[in-house]
Amino acid sequence: MFSAGMKYRHLIHNGGCSCASPGLQQRSGYLADYSRRNFLAAIGSVAVAGIMPGAGNAQNAKRPSKILLKQVRLFDGKSDKLHDGVQVLVEGNTIAAIDPANNPPPEDATIINCDNRMLMPGMIDAHWHAIYAPVPLQVLMMGDPGIIFAAATAEAERTLLRGFTTIRDLGGPTFTFKQAIDTGIIPGPRIFPSGAMITTSGGHGDLRMPFEIPARDGQLSLSELMGSAAIADDIGGLQRRVREQLLQGASQVKIVGGGGVSSPRSPLDMTTFSETEIRAAVEVARDWNTYVTVHAYASNTVQRAIAGGVSCIEHAHLMDEQTARMFADKKIWLSTQPFLTIEDAASQTGVGAERAAQIFVGTPKIYGYAKKYGIMTAWGSDLLFSPELAPRQNIMLTHLSNWFTNAEALRMATSGNAGLLALSNLRAPYPGNLGVIEKGALADMLVWDGNPLDDIKLVERPEETLKIVMKDGRIFKNTL
Ligand SMILES: [Zn+2]
Repeated sequence: MFSAGMKYRHLIHNGGCSCASPGLQQRSGYLADYSRRNFLAAIGSVAVAGIMPGAGNAQNAKRPSKILLKQVRLFDGKSDKLHDGVQVLVEGNTIAAIDPANNPPPEDATIINCDNRMLMPGMIDAHWHAIYAPVPLQVLMMGDPGIIFAAATAEAERTLLRGFTTIRDLGGPTFTFKQAIDTGIIPGPRIFPSGAMITTSGGHGDLRMPFEIPARDGQLSLSELMGSAAIADDIGGLQRRVREQLLQGASQVKIVGGGGVSSPRSPLDMTTFSETEIRAAVEVARDWNTYVTVHAYASNTVQRAIAGGVSCIEHAHLMDEQTARMFADKKIWLSTQPFLTIEDAASQTGVGAERAAQIFVGTPKIYGYAKKYGIMTAWGSDLLFSPELAPRQNIMLTHLSNWFTNAEALRMATSGNAGLLALSNLRAPYPGNLGVIEKGALADMLVWDGNPLDDIKLVERPEETLKIVMKDGRIFKNTL
């Protein structure tokens, strides 16, 4: 829904020079290059630490070879009800067995008695921004990449401890950040990264500063250098930008089909890439055995993306019923967010707040269409720019109970979203099944006090109700 490109560029700009200084245009290329180098140095050191022997030992030490979760009531991510009287054995990073509760435990297993609490798969947020979610605008404006990544690091742990063991990142420089999490340097969720969001000039995601317009041949804007956005206005440029994200490890490609909420110069009704251009991006992604998803709100934007052959649309809050039917007819994924009230978009002001109000009106309609036509629907939260707003991630999930049963909502955030992640095919960064508790699946699991199938609202208080968080067979929280 939102884009941080402008703030990001602004902060880099403020960090390196004064807006009012003469000769800025001549110097901005150098400054951008300098900022980029500092940025890469900071991130590079994290990445290098990740491949250093011994890195992440503190977390590795938390993964005994076998863990037995005894006496659980199991929600497996797929069914409507709980399986009682079972125990779940984890070996390494996978689920090795689901046995009757009275089976004798393996001798060498660490045993955790869950006392008939509910065990379910770790939750998946299909639309998140790991770098931008927690960073307040004023911090972004101060201009230090160090503090941005420090804030993102702290938020990554909080995200995990709220029960989200996997996120699909829809824009931002996450490639080496993901590496830092995966290698155990910092705690956080698994990340399915898109890298930079790819836009035309003037589309959502193009938030260049006035001094960066017009574009000068061969010179990238600051947000492009930072990996927040990639701007392309012809097929060749678009193909190159798509390939650049893929070579850095993108598990899917995000392109911008139209305007957005927080991009004041890109109104919600406008459309960017042509159908031919979208198809070119789709073909590159297919060559890499993955898919394209398109940021789109308006019917015409959604329809063009579908005509271009994409597999998924982000948002679509302003689409009409005829457009909604196309999702079902063509088996396209709808990755959307239940934005309901101004509290869900508290970081928006001015034009952004006005546009958010349009989205609130669209939300009940699209969930109505999703149910009426059986659209493959993924749940995401897309919260940005505020460490106070980010914890609403769990409330954004419980908003689904306006249209779905508790079991349907929890399925959407587990096995349902995992179905969308599977579109990444050979580019999926974590081999193995996610979003389910079954033999052989990756061991991402939560233990709740109480039963969210009866009372989903308890998911809103994870600090109190979430007793165990396990990701990849490692325990990150255990208050039993
Ligand atoms: Zn977003």
